[in-house]
Amino acid sequence: MTQLALVIDLNVCVGCHACVTSCKQWNTSGSAGPLTDDLPYGEDPSGTFFNRVQTFEVGQFPNTQTVHFPKSCLHCEDPPCVPVCPTGASYKRAEDGIVLVDYDKCIGCKYCSWACPYGAREFDEDRKVMTKCTLCVDRVTDKALPEAQRKPACVLACPAGARLFGDIHDPASTVSVAITERAGYQLMPEWGTRPANHYLPCRRTQITLHAEDLQRRDNPLKLDGKQPEAPHLEPGREDYAT
Ligand code: SF4
Ligand code: SF4
Repeated sequence: MTQLALVIDLNVCVGCHACVTSCKQWNTSGSAGPLTDDLPYGEDPSGTFFNRVQTFEVGQFPNTQTVHFPKSCLHCEDPPCVPVCPTGASYKRAEDGIVLVDYDKCIGCKYCSWACPYGAREFDEDRKVMTKCTLCVDRVTDKALPEAQRKPACVLACPAGARLFGDIHDPASTVSVAITERAGYQLMPEWGTRPANHYLPCRRTQITLHAEDLQRRDNPLKLDGKQPEAPHLEPGREDYAT
């Protein structure tokens, strides 16, 4: 069985949020939308996002590192959000493993968001339905699009190429090879949900600073010992001297 998924390279993600905004744009105007925004320019804006980037500082000073961690529904192979749904609105597609919500059947009881250990479901307060990442099912299955465009909006938008998309059950696929070669891992596997999305770990980088490398040898002020000349002031215009 095909299992479509995202593989996200944490070593490459720069936290620019292009995936967040492209997701919001595509899904607001696509079959999963509109995704609401409440008071977007107010003091306490809120809204529905399928994909969020969380940024952490890891390690201990001075050996810290910033990690940008994009997170959306992981399209678990054994998704706990599905069996808890009393109406059958939450389901996993047999043909490609995408986990979806049928808005027409959803009664907004939120059982699924309590069952999801990843906080991946977003309740839409305007429509009173549960929403979540659809892996852009309306793009990836659209045969009218050129094949190169049949990818989730976030994958196409990522300027760093940190997001891969494909079938993790095909051992020859780009995503499977990346998982195998780069020690791709699942988020919280101890929950037994078998998330389809994987992450490629951040490599720790170490640098050594040498004091002599911090000197600017081409600094003209140091070379000839001169200070910059005071600006020429017009009479009566001392006010702009600073
Ligand atoms: Fe369900 Fe959460 Fe897994 Fe997505 S990440 S399939 S919402 S349990
Ligand atoms: Fe099912 Fe909707 Fe309730 Fe979630 S909120 S369990 S999708 S009816």
